[in-house]
Amino acid sequence: MEVDANKQQDYKSLYQKLLKNHIRLKRYVKRLEDELVRLRTPPLLVATLVEVIGDRAIVKSNNGAEFLVNIASFIDRSRLIPGVRVALNQQSLAIVDILDKEKDPEVLAMEIIERPKVRYSDIGGLKEQIMEIRECVELPLKNPEIFKKVGIEPPKGVLLYGPPGCGKTLLAKAVAGETNATFIGLTASELVRKYIGEGARLVRELFRLAREKAPSIVFIDEIDAIAMHRINSDVSGDREVQRTLLQLLSEMDGFKSLDNVKIIAATNRIDLIDPALLRPGRFDRIIYIPLPDFNARIEIFKIHSRNMNLKEIDFEELSRRTEGATGADIRAICMEAGMFAIRSGRDYVTMEDFYRAIEKVFSRKSERNKELRYIK
Ligand code: ATP
Repeated sequence: MEVDANKQQDYKSLYQKLLKNHIRLKRYVKRLEDELVRLRTPPLLVATLVEVIGDRAIVKSNNGAEFLVNIASFIDRSRLIPGVRVALNQQSLAIVDILDKEKDPEVLAMEIIERPKVRYSDIGGLKEQIMEIRECVELPLKNPEIFKKVGIEPPKGVLLYGPPGCGKTLLAKAVAGETNATFIGLTASELVRKYIGEGARLVRELFRLAREKAPSIVFIDEIDAIAMHRINSDVSGDREVQRTLLQLLSEMDGFKSLDNVKIIAATNRIDLIDPALLRPGRFDRIIYIPLPDFNARIEIFKIHSRNMNLKEIDFEELSRRTEGATGADIRAICMEAGMFAIRSGRDYVTMEDFYRAIEKVFSRKSERNKELRYIK
């Protein structure tokens, strides 16, 4: 009898196991089926709704052509407001979806941080640059009256340039943090690469958002991707880039500098920038963000290791051994040093860990440089 009861128990648990497995596999199959449907579905065209006329609607495509199209019966008419973006079936051009804000690529392309936590004290070195940026970005945001009283126009934006990884983005976030402003970041090269035909619209949207969330700092990284010297070109990709730049210029010209929106742009290639951007009333100040020097490296080491459990660390020696390192390299060195300590089973970090980390980060860097040279 007892044997039977045990057997029954075994069968029961086996049954439970099989049932669980069955449910898991069913879910897996469902996921694969969904994926198949997704992969087989033809792409949809994106357009902007101009007007709804009875059962049909006028939509405008990216190249400016307008079409009178049908509206699929399952579309919620109350959401068809002129200006909204819609997805069209490729063959019939019927409206089959409404792209709400969450799905909009422009929102995905931007990094929006309300009041970033970064402060000037998180930046090593760059004292003069911080002073300059405080004068031309922070002061007009905090105290626009003083400019009115004196009777001068505060700068609308600044252009930061210099080697990658030396704190341009960090500085822009710090200004937003210190002024309680919203940071809205956008990488221009992504804009050109990913959102073909959408560049000018995205720039418009960027500034609309900036005004809505003001006070705000608009940060455009890698601006050289859209702001290269204008060349007469018939290549449609280039024309598209130029349209994006023209939109940026007209947005910059369009807002009064006392509006509490300030633009900070960044580039590693100042030599490529179209002089039209550097005219007064656009990027009035151009600030060089250099590689950190001896003292700046000490400061950056201290900033990135301030939460680390350190034992007898000679920061001057670390700085001496890291000539040519960027701020981003130093951050990576601190992290690697921590990893070496953990791997050795310690809860504190020593000079030896830092030496090994420096070696690792520098050799990775020279590998990368070699690859880059090879690609070029
Ligand atoms: P890119 O041109 O590649 O966009 P960037 O100049 O904008 O580079 P950041 O993104 O600001 O560089 O720097 C990367 C990271 O390196 C920062 O998040 C920060 O942690 C660290 N860093 C760089 N410069 C400094 C600095 N001066 N002080 C402290 N940390 C720094």
